[in-house]
Amino acid sequence: MEIAVIGAGPMGLAAAYQLTLDGHRPTIFEADDRLGGMTASFDFSGLQIERYYHFHCTSDHGLLQILDELDLADKMRWTETRMGYWHNNRLQDWGNPLALLMFKGLSLPAKVRYGLHAFLSTRRKDWRPLDHLEAGDWIRRWVGEEAWRVLWRTLFEYKFYNFADNLSAAWIWSRIHRIGNSRYSLMREKLGYLDGGSETLLQALSSAITGAGGSIRLATPVRQVAAENNRIRGIVLPDNSLLPFDRIISTVPLPFVPRLVPDLPETTLQMYRALNNIAVVCVIAKLRKPLSDKFWLNINDPQMDIPGLVEYTNLRPLDHAVVYVPFYLPGNHEKFQQDDSVFIQKVKNYLCRINPSLTEADIIDVRASRYRYAQPVCEPGFMERLPPCRSDIDGLWIADTSYYYPYDRGISESIEFGRKLAREAIA
Ligand SMILES: Cc1cc2nc3c(=O)[nH]c(=O)nc-3n(C[C@H](O)[C@H](O)[C@H](O)COP(=O)(O)OP(=O)(O)OC[C@H]3O[C@@H](n4cnc5c(N)ncnc54)[C@H](O)[C@@H]3O)c2cc1C
Repeated sequence: MEIAVIGAGPMGLAAAYQLTLDGHRPTIFEADDRLGGMTASFDFSGLQIERYYHFHCTSDHGLLQILDELDLADKMRWTETRMGYWHNNRLQDWGNPLALLMFKGLSLPAKVRYGLHAFLSTRRKDWRPLDHLEAGDWIRRWVGEEAWRVLWRTLFEYKFYNFADNLSAAWIWSRIHRIGNSRYSLMREKLGYLDGGSETLLQALSSAITGAGGSIRLATPVRQVAAENNRIRGIVLPDNSLLPFDRIISTVPLPFVPRLVPDLPETTLQMYRALNNIAVVCVIAKLRKPLSDKFWLNINDPQMDIPGLVEYTNLRPLDHAVVYVPFYLPGNHEKFQQDDSVFIQKVKNYLCRINPSLTEADIIDVRASRYRYAQPVCEPGFMERLPPCRSDIDGLWIADTSYYYPYDRGISESIEFGRKLAREAIA
C-alpha cells in the first residue's frame, strides 16, 4: 500500500513512524524546509532553538512512550520551575497555595474561591459535564467577579480577542488540569524539557522513518489531494505532477483543508470554513542576564498587550537567558499585519519594565516567528463542529490538533493522535 502523510509536525511524523512499525513505507510531504511544524527550530545567532517555547508535563504519556521506544528516555529532564504573576507593577510569586495567599491586589474571599476552583479542577477527571459550558461563565460562577477580573480576564482577552467569550469550559479545564497535576508536591511544580529541545525527538523520528524505508520530502508543499468518484487518486505537487497513493493522511491545520481537498462535499467544506483559529507572533530574546527566576509569568497590565511570557532558561539552562513572548491574535486582526519590528520593540519595553535593571543593551539578539494557525478556538461542544477524521473521500484521513479536544494542542497529544490515525487508516 502506498501511503502519503501530509505535514512533518509531530502528528505527521508520529503517523509515519507508526506506519513503518506496521510494515509500511510512507512518504511524508512537508511544505517547510525543515521538520517540526510548530516545534521546528531555527539558528538563533549560533543557538539551535525552537521558534516557539515547549515544555512537558508528567502526564505527557504519548511523548514519554515514544521516547522509550526511540531510546531517548534519558534525554528527558525534569526541573522544579516557578511561576509568577505581573500585576500592579510588581512581580509576584504564583502557582502554589502560599503564593495565592500572599498575592497582593485580591481580597481573601476572592483568593479562597480562586484556589478552590483550581484545586477542584485539578482533581476533576470527567470533562464531559463541562463540554457545553462557556468557560468565562463557568470560571466566574466559581471564582466570582473580582478574581475573574484580576486573574483571568486579560489572559482570555489577550489570547482570544473577539473569541474570548465563547470558549469551552472543558478545554480550559484541560489546561488547568495538565499543569496542576505536574508537580512534586502541592508547593513544588515539575515541568520537563528534552535535552537538545524538540529537535532531538524530530531527528530520532526522522531516522526511524527513513531507516525503515519511508521517505521525507521537505520543502514540498502539497497543492491538492486529487480524487475521482469519491476515491483518492493521489497528491498534486506545485508543478502539477500527480503522485498516486492508496491512502493519504493529512495533518495540516484544518483551515488549509478546503483549498487542499476542494472535492470534499460542500457541507463538509463549510464545516472546515466555520472553524476559528488563532495566529501567533512569538518574539524570542537572548539576554545578558536573567529577567527573573520564573519560568512562566502571567501578565495583567493595561500597558502590555500579552497574557504572559516564558523565561525558557528557567526550565532548560543555556549559556544566556532566553525569553519567549507570544502575541496571540486572530489572523485577520489588524495587529497581525504589523511588522515584526513593532512586536520586537514592544518586547524590549516590556522586559525592561518587568526588570528595571535590564536595559536594551542587555538584549543580545531578538527575533520574531509567526504561525498563522497556531491554536484552534474550541467553542462549547467543539467536537460536534468537526467533520470525522475518516473523510467523505475514500482513502483520505484528515486531522489536526483540534481532534484531541478537550486537550490543548501539545506534542504528546499530537504524537498519540498521529499514531492512532495511522492504525485506523490501514485497518
Ligand atoms: C507558541 C506555541 C507554544 C507551544 N507550547 C507548547 C508546549 O509548551 N508544550 C507542548 O507540548 N506543545 C506546545 N505547543 C503545541 C505544539 O507545538 C503542537 O501541538 C504540535 O507541534 C502540533 O503538531 P502537529 O503535527 O499536529 O501540527 P503542526 O506542528 O502544525 O504541523 C503541521 C505541518 O503541516 C505542514 N503543512 C501545512 N500545509 C502543508 C502542505 N500544503 N503541504 C505539506 N505540508 C504542509 C506545516 O508546515 C507543518 O509542518 C506550542 C505551540 C505554539 C505555537
